[in-house]
Amino acid sequence: MQNNREGLLIVISGPSGVGKGTICKIILERNKNAKLSVSATTRQKRQDDIEGVNYFFKTKEEFERMIENNEFLEYMQVFGMNYYGTPRAFVDEERRNGHDIILEIDVKGAKKVKELCPDAVLIFIAPPTMSDIKTRLLGRGTESQSEIERRFNEAFFEIGHMEQYDYIVVNDVIEKASKAILDIIEAEKCRTSRNDELVKRFKEVIESYDESSAGK
Ligand code: 5GP
Repeated sequence: MQNNREGLLIVISGPSGVGKGTICKIILERNKNAKLSVSATTRQKRQDDIEGVNYFFKTKEEFERMIENNEFLEYMQVFGMNYYGTPRAFVDEERRNGHDIILEIDVKGAKKVKELCPDAVLIFIAPPTMSDIKTRLLGRGTESQSEIERRFNEAFFEIGHMEQYDYIVVNDVIEKASKAILDIIEAEKCRTSRNDELVKRFKEVIESYDESSAGK
């Protein structure tokens, strides 16, 4: 029995340097039904960033016009300077087509999404220890010293909000953490509340069952 339903809305957050990007890549490779929502941002493009793949890079004016046109599901000014936002149209359309949509966004954005869509699945990726975050940020070598310091402080803020999430996955081993998230996605699809149609169809069969024809 097939159950036609819209795709899951999956929010993945965690401090900078925790490995969100790598984990999301693995999830997308292994769950072909899942798609990543590409955010819009006004932050500077990094060397490895690709327009339309990592972000849609916008000027402040362009971003503010998109806000006025109500084009964002949620948006934030992260780190007090740059805008980041989730374009609404892609999320709505792809979910309607049955695709699971992954949003890789910060804790404030995650809170907004949960308010707007209570059935969203919020997953927080935590580091094994706080010092792992500093080591990983330094190892990345893409940010200035002051930017690393700011992101490390921001990591305290993010980690301080992990209890607002439905699930916490510790990224000690990337393979293990990725598998845990793939398993969460599968389990969420089995939730009774997401299977109304299936329950209804089985009940209809039971109700139309004619006892007199039993065993014939
Ligand atoms: P980065 O500059 O390292 O790519 O991202 C910085 C932070 O912005 C990360 O915590 C990331 O999850 C968050 N972020 C990226 N896109 C969005 C978005 O569309 N909305 C919100 N609220 N946060 C985002």
